[in-house]
Amino acid sequence: MRTAAIIVAAGRGTRAGGDLPKQWQVVAGKRVIDWTVDAFLNAAGIDSIVVVLHPDDLDRFAPTDRVEVTTGGATRVASVLSGLEFLDGSDVTHVLIHDVARMCTQSAYIVYTVATLETRTAVAPALPVTDALWHGADGTVSGTQDRTGLYRAQTPQGFVFKDILAAHRAYQGDAADDVEVARAAGIEVTIIDGDENNLKITTPEDFVRAEKILQGQMDIRTGSGYDVHRFGPGDHVVLCGVKLPHDRGLQGHSDADVGMHALTDAIYGAMAAGDIGRHFPPSDPQWKGAESHIFLRHASDLATEKGFKISSMDVTLICEHPKIGHHADAMRQTLSDITSVEIDRISVKATTSERLGFTGRGEGIAAQAIATLVRS
Ligand code: MG
Repeated sequence: MRTAAIIVAAGRGTRAGGDLPKQWQVVAGKRVIDWTVDAFLNAAGIDSIVVVLHPDDLDRFAPTDRVEVTTGGATRVASVLSGLEFLDGSDVTHVLIHDVARMCTQSAYIVYTVATLETRTAVAPALPVTDALWHGADGTVSGTQDRTGLYRAQTPQGFVFKDILAAHRAYQGDAADDVEVARAAGIEVTIIDGDENNLKITTPEDFVRAEKILQGQMDIRTGSGYDVHRFGPGDHVVLCGVKLPHDRGLQGHSDADVGMHALTDAIYGAMAAGDIGRHFPPSDPQWKGAESHIFLRHASDLATEKGFKISSMDVTLICEHPKIGHHADAMRQTLSDITSVEIDRISVKATTSERLGFTGRGEGIAAQAIATLVRS
């Protein structure tokens, strides 16, 4: 089974308000189209993704290794056919077809849809209608409608690739969705459980609801790190990547950057991914004297790999000397350069311990750090 996803995003609809079609508007920090594409990118079992765009929008969306782009037609049916024709000749055996405006679809739901498709000719999510239904005319109820057997259809709808391609090639006229096209070709479509949160952005109010749903789905993690290095002979220390002249140096198997070590451990901690010692064992000679930016970059790359964005980082250096204050911004900039996190999300501050304890006696420097990671 090789499964592709076609995301239909060629519409020009402005019913949702704003100057741009809804797929290009920003909700909870990301464009609608990016939320939708990312959900499929994060879903195991999706081998490729085709985004169908309006020809005027091609410069708004950059294709990548896993996300290809093609142009759509004047109607939804024409756009879906365009996406299917794009995949013709590939090794794809199954396809999910999804409306870009359903931006709250969760990756786990996509995985479930693919799994149900393994044993069926076609699957489509839907919710039974539970409200009473009326006919109305001129603001007055003109009749009632039995809701028995009625469903609200959603996407992604899943099909055997060659069957839905043939169905679309043969279909004439417009259709609300691909189930209509499939049924016209005699394909049996199994109804699977829909999700009330899988809303389709249609009105301005839907953006507000989508934002609430997405925020509720966010995976927010916090990690802490703590490190100490003792003073020894030397003429400088390196703290958060910045070299400061000092009458002693810090001892350690690497460059002894106590601040960067604490921060790196905080990032690992947020992901429950161990600590520096696990990823860079001190017993391994290749890390002797290694510069700490290697550790920090590894932790931040691992976060990206796992789908996390570093939302904030806060380092506190604890020592009497050297004085940190006017170097703090250079340290923040260095940490920003290494992690690609914006500088206004990075804090470096310092405190003394009132001459108490080992830091107070000047025997070493301690550092603690907190990192917050967000995955949506
Ligand atoms: Mg250390």
